[in-house]
Amino acid sequence: MQKHRTKFIFVTGGVASSLGKGIISASLARLLLSRGYKTTIQKLDPYINVDPGTLNPYEHGECYVTEDGAETDLDLGHYERFTNIPTSQANNVTTGRIYQSVIEKERRGDYLGSTVQVIPHITDEIKRRVRLLAEGNEFDVLITEIGGTVGDIESLPYIEAVRQLTWEMQEDVMVIHLTYVPYLAAAGELKTKPTQHSVKTMLEQGLQPDIIVCRTEHPISKGIRSKVALFCNVRPECVIESRDARNIYEVPLMMQKEGLDKQVLKILKLPYGGRPDLTQWRSFLRKLEHPKSQVQIALVGKYVELKDAYKSILEALLQAGAVNQCKIHVKLIPSEQITPANAAKTFSDCQAILVAPGFGKRGIEGKLTAIRHARENKIPFLGICLGMQCCVIEFARNVLGWKTANSTEMDVKTSHPVIHIMEDQKKVKNLGGTMRLGAYACRLEKGSRLAEIYGQRDISERHRHRYEFNNDYLPDFEKAGMKASGLNHGLSASGKKISRVEAVEIPGHPFFVGVQFHPEYKSTVENPHPLFVALVKAAMEQAAETNMKATPARKKK
Ligand code: GLN
Repeated sequence: MQKHRTKFIFVTGGVASSLGKGIISASLARLLLSRGYKTTIQKLDPYINVDPGTLNPYEHGECYVTEDGAETDLDLGHYERFTNIPTSQANNVTTGRIYQSVIEKERRGDYLGSTVQVIPHITDEIKRRVRLLAEGNEFDVLITEIGGTVGDIESLPYIEAVRQLTWEMQEDVMVIHLTYVPYLAAAGELKTKPTQHSVKTMLEQGLQPDIIVCRTEHPISKGIRSKVALFCNVRPECVIESRDARNIYEVPLMMQKEGLDKQVLKILKLPYGGRPDLTQWRSFLRKLEHPKSQVQIALVGKYVELKDAYKSILEALLQAGAVNQCKIHVKLIPSEQITPANAAKTFSDCQAILVAPGFGKRGIEGKLTAIRHARENKIPFLGICLGMQCCVIEFARNVLGWKTANSTEMDVKTSHPVIHIMEDQKKVKNLGGTMRLGAYACRLEKGSRLAEIYGQRDISERHRHRYEFNNDYLPDFEKAGMKASGLNHGLSASGKKISRVEAVEIPGHPFFVGVQFHPEYKSTVENPHPLFVALVKAAMEQAAETNMKATPARKKK
């Protein structure tokens, strides 16, 4: 394909939050990639935290971790799942980070003599961060999603920066505005007024959207399209309907049907002939929508009331379900509610148990009970990060008999600190961005279940933790039947050679795996993660076995 200058697409939101700007951006990226345009997506978040790493999941959902160890907004997870292209620190910038760089420059004396102001210094830094991703001309298209809603006080500098970029780069820039078109049941009508107002707010700030995507629960008639077009100064074919989808992976196809990609390419003056190649995407959707079996998997965690807190795990399970043509029902179980008395009943309808990542003491005993139930009853089990640490604690207590074994995160004075703080972490004072973050290599043990699942022995996975397996206890664990099946060979802070335990398994169990890393971050539609695929397979086998027990084969007469 002929090389063009990088084109910039900005996606803003109006009327309400949570309309799915991330999914629309990711879907557009998928369509452009499928047409051969190299595309990446960036999110600008207007809050003052430097990154979402220190935010409670209740506030902002899951914290997504990139290969280079950036703690980012969960939308970056959607970007990777839809595009199969890794993102990095440069793909997520917050107001906090923008101000941090400007203030650092001011202290260095870079602005010596001038008053540092929102305009031009903050807006210049926003523009620099946008252009940074386009440097090197690696991408044909850069989609930048602006968090928040037009009209918010904190969005103002971003909208102003986009206005300036539109002016400076003219036909290389375009703006998509995502709004909500509510349905008033009493009037039996869809209402466009909120959209008109939100576009008016943008116009007051000097920005004219080129395309308006209308989130709606009902079809948008021709009349409504013409109305939005006329009052918002866009062509009728640039008013795009975005109805509620059965699942988020349908959205690229819906957007293609509506012509979003075609209109975008037209506006950016890029060739738009032909159709995007979505063969693989369609085949994924076909499998997803036509399951041949079903299983229920328990997800045990502290924040299960809020599904967004475990977004990547839920998506990885769904993708793994599609591979196996198996419908996955996820039973979300708050760890605090699990007790030895109710465990059997709670998990009686589950064919696998997944214990989620997490921090702090709350709900730990429930997690340990869930793990004991999975281990003793031979139910497939996957523990991720804290989930892995918990399966080590459970084994220490109930198999090795060290009743007060614990992680020093939960009990600093425990008799058996089977999980303890990493040496490098002891001197850490600031909590933001200081965990062991991002991709690290892991060598899998020959003959281990994990080596079989991955089909290779050298893997790389992403991390986010401060505590780890205490190697002093490894011989005891291995003797009693829990094996370290994945190791990271590296150097500690003091330069000593160290083999960190990255994964454990119990060989005699049908499927019992704990991983210190987060496989869920790397699962995409194109490459569903082998560990989740294997967990679903194990759950399907479990289901088949339970069915066999429930309906014994008839005796021949
Ligand atoms: N709290 C644990 C640690 O810091 C686990 C972290 C996690 O589950 N992401 O090591």
